[in-house]
Amino acid sequence: MALKHDWTKEEILDIYNKPFMDLLYEAASVHREHHDPNTVQVSTLLSIKTGGCPEDCGYCPQAARYHTDLEGNDLMSVNQVKAQALRAKASGSSRVCMGAAWRNVKDGEEFDNVLEMVRSINKLDMEVCCTLGMLTENQAARLAEAGLYAYNHNLDTSEDYYKEVISTRGFDDRLATIDNVRKTNVTVCSGGIIGMGESTADRAGMLVALATLNPQPESVPINALVPVEGTPMEEQEPVPIWDMIRMVATTRIVMPETQVRLSAGRTQMSREGQAMCFFAGANSIFAGDKLLTTPNPDVNEDMEMFKMLGLNPQKPFVKKSQPESVAAENTQFQSQNEKPKWSRPGHKIERNLEAQQKAKTKV
Ligand code: SF4
Repeated sequence: MALKHDWTKEEILDIYNKPFMDLLYEAASVHREHHDPNTVQVSTLLSIKTGGCPEDCGYCPQAARYHTDLEGNDLMSVNQVKAQALRAKASGSSRVCMGAAWRNVKDGEEFDNVLEMVRSINKLDMEVCCTLGMLTENQAARLAEAGLYAYNHNLDTSEDYYKEVISTRGFDDRLATIDNVRKTNVTVCSGGIIGMGESTADRAGMLVALATLNPQPESVPINALVPVEGTPMEEQEPVPIWDMIRMVATTRIVMPETQVRLSAGRTQMSREGQAMCFFAGANSIFAGDKLLTTPNPDVNEDMEMFKMLGLNPQKPFVKKSQPESVAAENTQFQSQNEKPKWSRPGHKIERNLEAQQKAKTKV
């Protein structure tokens, strides 16, 4: 059956607000039609360049303008990344996602190193994903040629609420980067965060933006905010598990083929809660004691949970075959040193400004 791409906010809200048991049953049925319900992908997220980011995302401890306990570091070496990827593979991960705290990718030595990291992980027969900020068409093509499997670029929330979270770039820039990725054979990973003070209509709005993309993203991470001291969202209340399950279930129903990733916030969830998320359609977790910079369950604890639930880690390249990786000396694409004009709306977000002000008094 062809996938539906004309979802409206009202339709998605109707699903989100269904009686819980009906929602769970429907989501689990869709999940079973499109995926093996006893298989969950284990992925590893590596922070290859931490902190010092010029952006003002209200949830993020990596933004240089807020004062958090985060220790930043420069770009890791190719060998360090390869060693970590090998460790991840040995402990059951089939996918490695490399995150750099950049506003956008800049051509030059650091990007060339990232391309080399992509090549080296591709050679390990793992799915390799990057999240590096905004990206031009040429940069997307260079990543694809190196053998990138997926590019992550989260929409974070609805277009309306985006203005309450980030003032240093616009929602359209996100869509433009996703579009640049779509011009290659790299798959799209894009999702968001709940618990930032958004309404349920905003949650539905984010799902409309994702589910009406054609094709829909192959991967959608659903994060629960982990409030970090010093960030503008430090005082947000924890996300109730019921909201997380509803969000996962709704995502599964509106994007049946997509890999739905249970991402940040798992340390606050019980095993029962996580089991319900898997039943409702989540089919990936991130392993390792840190998720970029925030805490995450230990990999052994996750493997114990898998054993208890009879879940098997998913092999790589189930949905799409391994991309070819072209060596640097045979590349067809050269650096274009473009200077794209990504937007900078610069509107005032009160809580971001307050956190920034507090940071100044702490330094
Ligand atoms: S979420 Fe990404 S872009 Fe935003 S501040 Fe953090 S590292 Fe920078």
